[in-house]
Amino acid sequence: MTNVDLEVVLMTDQLERGPARTAHAGVVLASAGDRGVLCDFYDEAGSDTYRDLIQDADGTLETREFAARVPQDPGPVLELAAGMGRLTFPFLELGWEMTALELSATVVTAFRKRLAESPPELRERCTVVQGDMSAFALGRRFGAVVISSGSINELGEADRKGLYAAVLEHLRPGGKFLLSLELTKPVEAEPVERSQELSGRSGRRHVLHVKILPSEELQEITIYPADETADPFVVCTHRRRLFTVDRIARELGQAGFDVVAREPFASTGAGRDDMVLVEAIPREVTADAK
Ligand code: SAM
Repeated sequence: MTNVDLEVVLMTDQLERGPARTAHAGVVLASAGDRGVLCDFYDEAGSDTYRDLIQDADGTLETREFAARVPQDPGPVLELAAGMGRLTFPFLELGWEMTALELSATVVTAFRKRLAESPPELRERCTVVQGDMSAFALGRRFGAVVISSGSINELGEADRKGLYAAVLEHLRPGGKFLLSLELTKPVEAEPVERSQELSGRSGRRHVLHVKILPSEELQEITIYPADETADPFVVCTHRRRLFTVDRIARELGQAGFDVVAREPFASTGAGRDDMVLVEAIPREVTADAK
């Protein structure tokens, strides 16, 4: 087994080991008793809650931003951390040839099932790979590498360096690295904890509990039904890293990219910009710089 394979297996084990039992999840699960089910917000078991709450559930708004920046006739496009294909399927609808890379084995299985049920003209243009976006070697190059909002937040600093290096190795000449990033404020020095009730697209009410751990630059989320009698009482959790767009742009510069555009956009119909589409291209090494 190569180091890359080993790393994928280790990361996969970590993901498949299950959801984070946040302190708040412990409290609500204790009162739900036997009705309580703990899952990860991004895993298959959490997908019902994820789809109910995510604003751009069918990826329309985010897809439009990527499509505006992907070169015409891009050739093969690589999507990293593809999840269950919220963006991959709209990308396929645009006629692109996609490779979708995702770490979690259960999510990959769900993605493959969805793909198997889709029309052959889409299915034939999609390759699904289980792998780690911070260490991958696919043996081919792409006209664009894309990563959706929230996905880079899965990686710590060392893994982000691995991601940037792997992307550089997979771009064709003229290729672009496109990232959609959440517009977040710099993390406050003091821990912050708050709860709010949200309405899902289905009309169901959910409680979102967020705890920010500044020293670890982490956000812990716990989501559960507002209806205390719900059965099953599904509690979704996730721990994600927090960083600003400036920081990612700086890291891309240090990794050998030129950030050529930062386009704010709204991921909801409400119109307030809450995301940024970042376009980066490999920096040309001039004779002087060698
Ligand atoms: N792109 C999808 C979407 O927009 O709905 C999923 C985004 S979700 C925020 C992040 C995804 O990254 C999850 O499906 C998770 O399993 C996956 N993931 C986490 N760490 C990863 C890694 N190191 N390599 C590849 N995928 C990873």
